[in-house]
Amino acid sequence: MAEEISFDQARERIDELKVLLDKYSHEYYVLDQPTIPDEEYDQLYRELVELEEKYPTLVQNDSPTQRVGGSLLEGFEKVQHDIPMLSLDNAFSKEELQDFDRKVSQILEDQPYTYHCELKMDGLAVSLKYENGKFKQAVTRGNGSEGENVTANVKTIRSIPLSLKEPLTLEARGEIYMPKSSFIALNQQREEQGEAVFANPRNAAAGTIRNLDPKVTASRNLSVFLYSLAQLDGKEVQSQSEALALLDDLGLKTNPERRVFESIDEVWDFVEEYQEKRTELPYEIDGIVIKVNELDNQEKAGFTVKAPRWAIAYKFPAEEAETLLKTIEWSV
Ligand code: NAD
Repeated sequence: MAEEISFDQARERIDELKVLLDKYSHEYYVLDQPTIPDEEYDQLYRELVELEEKYPTLVQNDSPTQRVGGSLLEGFEKVQHDIPMLSLDNAFSKEELQDFDRKVSQILEDQPYTYHCELKMDGLAVSLKYENGKFKQAVTRGNGSEGENVTANVKTIRSIPLSLKEPLTLEARGEIYMPKSSFIALNQQREEQGEAVFANPRNAAAGTIRNLDPKVTASRNLSVFLYSLAQLDGKEVQSQSEALALLDDLGLKTNPERRVFESIDEVWDFVEEYQEKRTELPYEIDGIVIKVNELDNQEKAGFTVKAPRWAIAYKFPAEEAETLLKTIEWSV
């Protein structure tokens, strides 16, 4: 479509897409009640990206391609992130992963690099701060520069330690999620009580963490996987794999399903392996996150306005998501 469209038609379609995507984002991020599947959102988003690439003068500052997340919920204190919490660019095919690899290799100018592959948890991004080893604050990603202070709720999650095994000051980031079994039980209970059910475990987790009553959060079984170390005082790590190993040593929960690879072909094998295994996992994933492993390489690659240039999220295809939904329905 983006090939044949004129400037005026593109302007009109961009305005339409912006209104639609803003509406869907509000339902997804603020209300935790999406009305369309993620795949449909991703298609509309991609159409917008292609139109903006064709006509860069039509890119507006408030375009969904230039912003992270949605607006913040009233009722929670707003907290500024020291380092922005960004999104990830997406890939939907092996070819797009190969394109990503070509770009990385160009940016790094023949510097050797490897890829750290992780499962893409379908939950809610959160930043956890520890001071001298003591849990201090938890903040949602929000709009990327400001998030909601959800410390009281996050304290009720049993897999988040209140003290680290070493008295370090750090900020770890990760995904809060609801295991599939807890999601099914919660929806069953809500149905019995005549309450609206959650669309998926991601929305259930987000709605639970952004509930104003910590007792409600405590009554639901949330968990966490930490996937990055945004700040660290008094110690150094050289790579994503070292950062996750340190988080493990400190007692912070990370996902063990991760591996380092030298080539994008090996990365693709990992993607295919987990595309098969995803229905067996006790939590929902919607893809694989591929990150350049070495921190000096990450620094060299840098960021766009919305996402790191050293990482990409491969999103599983739609039929897989439908199969998963069916699996959940059947097991109820
Ligand atoms: P994203 O979900 O595509 O990727 C970024 C996020 O991935 C991070 O913020 C983090 O929360 C998460 N993540 C999970 N595992 C990770 C790991 N191992 N390492 C790093 N990050 C990890 O991007 P987004 O900006 O959060 O959301 C956009 C997506 O949300 C869309 O692509 C769409 O699928 C969905 N969405 C759906 C609707 C709808 O109406 N259905 C509306 C808006 C957004």
